[in-house]
Amino acid sequence: MAEKLAIIGAGPAGLTAALYAGRAFLEPLVFIGPSFGGQIATTTEVENFPGFPEGLQGPELTALMRRQAEKFGARMVEETILKVDFSRRPFRLWSSNQQYEVEAVIVATGATPRKLGVPGEEEYIGRGVSYCATCDGFFFRDKEIIVVGGGDSAFQEGLFLTKFGRRVRIVHRRDEFRAGATLQQRAMQNPKIEFIRSAVVERIIGNGKVREVELRSTKTGERWVTPVDGVFIFIGHQPNTDLFKGQLDMDEEGYLIVDKRLHTSVPGVFAAGEVHDNWFKQAITSAGFGCMAAMEAEKFLAALESERAAVATAV
Ligand code: NAP
Repeated sequence: MAEKLAIIGAGPAGLTAALYAGRAFLEPLVFIGPSFGGQIATTTEVENFPGFPEGLQGPELTALMRRQAEKFGARMVEETILKVDFSRRPFRLWSSNQQYEVEAVIVATGATPRKLGVPGEEEYIGRGVSYCATCDGFFFRDKEIIVVGGGDSAFQEGLFLTKFGRRVRIVHRRDEFRAGATLQQRAMQNPKIEFIRSAVVERIIGNGKVREVELRSTKTGERWVTPVDGVFIFIGHQPNTDLFKGQLDMDEEGYLIVDKRLHTSVPGVFAAGEVHDNWFKQAITSAGFGCMAAMEAEKFLAALESERAAVATAV
């Protein structure tokens, strides 16, 4: 017997989908994957998730979401899906030790912020290094901030960070920025923003928390060290979609293509969260997408059941 619904990924999108699917008696299997909770679980203080006026820790929020989903029958599976076959029904999913057959799937594998890959970056995540201004900007009131990147995100988040920081310096590897003209103009007019062009961060230095970065000119090779409290990195995201290559339609950056009801190119496969959303990228919007995908999966499964009942009656 095939399972009704599998949810791949257990961040805010997957866990909210699990809650809604559980409440619809679909008893979803939720494949947690390599890291439970997704990006929000790597954030310390979450202050912008409605319902928690005092704020809470990222892992605490996802643990609560999990408990709520399990209360309604969602089944968490501590396995990573390594291969899928959406070309026939029921769909097949493989983890390292088992094969599963399912009628419908919600893909909620999220995205991973691109990393610089320089010394000190991993070490100081949550202690000065951040990939989310909305999450962490508040902790840098009157501090020295460096933003890395030259696209819309770097500019938009850099502008947002001027609410908190004493100064925000945007470090970009080229002379020209990729960001749109309006954002560029707004940033250039902002007295708190300065630009360090044609430079890259070579090293993040600290003792317990970030204190300095070492920069290198991409033109002359010159290196220098500058004091800084916060390093915000916005050099793009990488959707976690390698698993679905050749099975689901995706754009040139690898984001899944969905319609407005979160249907992918394969009927019965839905997507929720940052695996398709390259725009809002918030825990609350991902949770909303999870809810929508579960509602659509429920409709799909109900239609499938009626179809089968009609065929059985005809025979
Ligand atoms: P993006 O457009 O891909 O820009 C990434 C930036 O990071 C580029 O400037 C790139 O430099 C730089 N970069 C990439 N790898 C790097 C590395 N290893 N070291 C140093 N720098 C590196 O990503 P995004 O800014 O996150 O935007 C993603 C999408 O969302 C875009 O389509 C964007 O338009 C959209 N968006 C729009 C808004 C808005 O309000 N309009 C806001 C946010 C995002 P190069 O330029 O040299 O390649």
